[in-house]
Amino acid sequence: MGNGQGKRVVVIGAGIVGASLAYHLAGKGANVILVEAQGIASGVTGSSFAWINTTHPEPDPIAQLRASAIEEYRRLETQLPGMEIRWTGALSYSVMPNAALSASGKQASDHWVSRSQILDLEPNLKNPPQAALFVAQEGALDAVAATHALIAGAEAYGAKILTQTRVLGFVTQGAKVSGVETTIGCIDADIVVLAAGTGITKLTDMLEVSLPIEASPAIFIRYKPQPNLVHTLISSPEMEVRQSSDGALLAAEDYLDEAMENQPLAIALRTAKTIRNELHGVNSIDVESACVGLRPIPADGIPIIGYLPKVVGAYVCAMHPGITLAAIVGRLASEEIIDGVASSALYPCRPDRFFQA
Ligand SMILES: Cc1cc2nc3c(=O)[nH]c(=O)nc-3n(C[C@H](O)[C@H](O)[C@H](O)COP(=O)(O)OP(=O)(O)OC[C@H]3O[C@@H](n4cnc5c(N)ncnc54)[C@H](O)[C@@H]3O)c2cc1C
Repeated sequence: MGNGQGKRVVVIGAGIVGASLAYHLAGKGANVILVEAQGIASGVTGSSFAWINTTHPEPDPIAQLRASAIEEYRRLETQLPGMEIRWTGALSYSVMPNAALSASGKQASDHWVSRSQILDLEPNLKNPPQAALFVAQEGALDAVAATHALIAGAEAYGAKILTQTRVLGFVTQGAKVSGVETTIGCIDADIVVLAAGTGITKLTDMLEVSLPIEASPAIFIRYKPQPNLVHTLISSPEMEVRQSSDGALLAAEDYLDEAMENQPLAIALRTAKTIRNELHGVNSIDVESACVGLRPIPADGIPIIGYLPKVVGAYVCAMHPGITLAAIVGRLASEEIIDGVASSALYPCRPDRFFQA
């Protein structure tokens, strides 16, 4: 048990970010209550492609965070029975071979693979490129299962989880946040952590601290199982696909607009055609589900992590890519909140960058 015993922390939001925060805070001995408006992983976490993607073109202000993402998930795997990650590696040919890649990407620059190596990795590719980046250390997870695993871990440390409970406002004493008002009444807190995804802006507006976080749509598609089609995770200009542990083929696509021909199901059918054109061995490719998820993306693309300016006791965690970063941010933010240890990796993420004159 850590030194946070007795510190009352309310975490708002049971997506993967809030779940990771709740787990790490409770593990440090904090008295955690997690408040979720709907169900666990009912936000964008429930429709995520969930690639632990650590490669990014330079300059990358959060290179330090990305570089630790994999080892933090490896740690969680040893701590949480339900945390199952498919470490298949990721084959990417949307990046140019001579692109400058940051942090873990630099390690990855050792891993440019040739056409014949690409075919060894993905024998079903019909049109393999001359070269691709293969990052063997990367993987992907079932984001819903991972969120449940973190919640179960938090509960084992004594955290209380309130689902179907919406935060409606804050209890304040002067500039200090001393609790939250919810649909089932007020809950006192020493610290309130805002991990509510795209719901964060509404909450910070109530504290009169406006944060520029865009609700950015993307499409998540699940096709019926068809094992052994894709072995790694393929990110190419044509498609982004991988297989889940039950053999379902998963794809992520850009959201275009609201037109009928660009509705999720229509995009899923077009993507199915592309997959058929790109891969041998596709027998039937039936859509199981296709939906839009709203990603919380800060205006400058950099996560917003830290105490809100102008108020006391409110800590915000808004980020993209949230799956990649949830494990490392959960640990570092809990160290800041409970141990008072500020992390240099989080410096570029501070909310006050939006309030400097
Ligand atoms: C198609 C697609 C593909 C993606 N691919 C990747 C990827 O490959 N890798 C990656 O890292 N990321 C990816 N992402 C992004 C990733 O899914 C998100 O960054 C991440 O899930 C964000 O998690 P979160 O916990 O912050 O938000 P959420 O999952 O949205 O959780 C926030 C929760 O807060 C709750 N809430 C909101 N307001 C309130 C309130 N007032 N009171 C109580 N509860 C409230 C909501 O109900 C919700 O459950 C993808 C997203 C999409 C849509």
